[in-house]
Parts: sequence; structure tokens; C-alpha cells
Amino acid sequence: MSDLIQRFTFADLPVRGEIISLEQSFQTICEQHQYSDTLRHLLGEALAATALMAEIIKIEGKVSLQLQSPSQVKLLVTECNNHGHIRGVMHPLDPDITDYDFKKWTQGGTLAITIEPVQGHRYQGIVSLEKDSLAACLEDYFTSSEQLPTYLKLFVSKERITGVFLQAMPDEGNQEKDRQTAFEHVTTLAETITDEEALTLSHHDLLYRLFHQDKVTLYTEKPIQFQCSCSRERNERALLTIEPQELMQLAEEHDGKVELVCDFCSKKEVFTQQEIAQLITTNQGSESVN
Ligand SMILES: [Zn+2]
Repeated sequence: MSDLIQRFTFADLPVRGEIISLEQSFQTICEQHQYSDTLRHLLGEALAATALMAEIIKIEGKVSLQLQSPSQVKLLVTECNNHGHIRGVMHPLDPDITDYDFKKWTQGGTLAITIEPVQGHRYQGIVSLEKDSLAACLEDYFTSSEQLPTYLKLFVSKERITGVFLQAMPDEGNQEKDRQTAFEHVTTLAETITDEEALTLSHHDLLYRLFHQDKVTLYTEKPIQFQCSCSRERNERALLTIEPQELMQLAEEHDGKVELVCDFCSKKEVFTQQEIAQLITTNQGSESVN
């Protein structure tokens, strides 16, 4: 079992949940870059949190998390779309850092959640970086932006990430006090998960271990996988933003070719001078038609 997200609900409690595990996709993304174990830890947390958000927000489109700071984490971007395709990249100040300190690493920075539906408007929310972990910052953000008590816990090892999300359901006639009591009940139980359990048990076994007395229903799993949205066509469009003359000169200066490397997956696309000339001609042709 790996790379899955699953929703769960309780028969008698107004709380909803999501549980996620990433293995293969996490390792694939880490292999594309040289990250120390502690950097992988933060990247893993961000990937799991982003996939969870994409599932919770449930739009046709993409959800991304961007962290920028003048500290250790210069840039961290993770994305997940409604097909469960994730990708991520990080630019650290010191690539060999070993002491994980989220607050120090992100000091003076900003964290944004961007929701980009295929149709409709883009939305951006800013998450405060006051707390000691990414999970705690996001937990706070959801609690205040949705006005619903929210719990988020992320567990990371070298091989796997597991995330548990719990949220009180919007008021459907249930008393505020009952809702609060139910939420406290499930989060108290969730707090008893050990790292080892979270990172070795299946979703079913983990939820059974925690909530077997609370009639929990685990829904069909949705697969998550690494997939980068870069393509030769996108690179062509990027090249065409440069002045034709400048572009040809660039190729001239680089042995008759231009190379573009994807920041996310490190895939390299090479464009020869001839291909660039063709691209410019085709583009000019299509421009004159319009
Ligand atoms: Zn790519």
C-alpha cells in the first residue's frame, strides 16, 4: 500500500477526516534533487499537506503551497491537482543542513495557498508562520478561515509520509457543545498515534487502532502519483517570450542550442538553432493570421 488518500467519517460524531500516505511519489520527487534528510522532511510534509488540501477543497484544478523566505527555505513549492498528481521543489540556502527547525528556517517568510480552478477565479490565502511546524500553521489557517475546529498531523520518515486531517463538520443542527466535545474526543485519540504506527500501519489498521469504538467508515482510496506538468510545448511558449533576435543569439552563444531544465522534475529539453528558427517562423505565421 502506498500513495493513497482516503476520506473517513464517524457514524455518530460530526467530524470528518482524511488520511494520506505517500511513498513512491515522495521518493521520486526527492530523487530528482539533492536534499538532506531534514530538507526531505519539510518537503514531505508540504507534499502531503498539499495533497490533503486538494482533496478537502475539491475543485477541478490545482492547489499549491508556496513558501518563500530570506532564511533557510528560500523557496518551497508543492502542487497537487484533482487527478492526484503531485510535484514539488525546494531551494534551500544550505543544501546540507541537518537541524530541522521550521520556525528558524522560515523566519521572515510568507506562506501562501493558491487555488487555481480550471474554470473560474484563482484564489490565494496567506498562512501565518507563527507556529513551530507546517502542520500547526495550516491547522491554524483552516480553523480560522473556515471557522471549524481542525486538526492536522504529519509524520515523515525517509521512505514514507502519513498525514491525518480531522475537522468538525459544519453545523447541521448539532449543538455547538456536542460538536466541540466530539472534536475533542477524536483529536485526543488521534494524539495517541506513535510515529511508528503512523508510518507502518495501513490506513485501515491505523484508524481501527484509534477509533474502533467510534464506528468509523473508511471510503474508497484515491491514488496519488508524481506527475510533472512540464512539456516541450510549454517550453516553446516560454522561449517565445524572448525576442527572436535575442533567442537566436542565445543559441549561437551556446553551441547552437538552448537548453531548458524543469525546476520541478529536472527534465531537460534541448532546442537546436534550427528548431528555434522554425518555432519563430511558425509563431510569426500564426500571429499574422490573428
Ligand atoms: Zn517537469
